[in-house]
Amino acid sequence: MISTRLPTPGRGPHPERPYAVGATVPHTPLRPIWCCRACGQPWPCATARLLLRAEYESNPIGLSIYLAGLMYEAMRDLYHLNPHDGPEPAALFDRFVAWGPRRSHPAR
Ligand SMILES: [Zn+2]
Repeated sequence: MISTRLPTPGRGPHPERPYAVGATVPHTPLRPIWCCRACGQPWPCATARLLLRAEYESNPIGLSIYLAGLMYEAMRDLYHLNPHDGPEPAALFDRFVAWGPRRSHPAR
């Protein structure tokens, strides 16, 4: 029997970045609600974005992959918590991925 149903993807990356600075609470997401465990703002908060940009300064593709993976994890958690009134996918894309490294356009 041929099925049109796609297999469920595996888990995404563990949200361990940005790493803590000194002895402070790291600006990492508190799951499953995806707010920052340090400042309570929706993750990634402004501080997390700054720290992630610094950590991935030499690896912008790695940052894009990390953010896309965490967006997927957030979708899994947030839509499970609130299946009928969860955030719009476009809003989650803006929140998790769109602020990250920009794609460079190929030379014409
Ligand atoms: Zn924060």
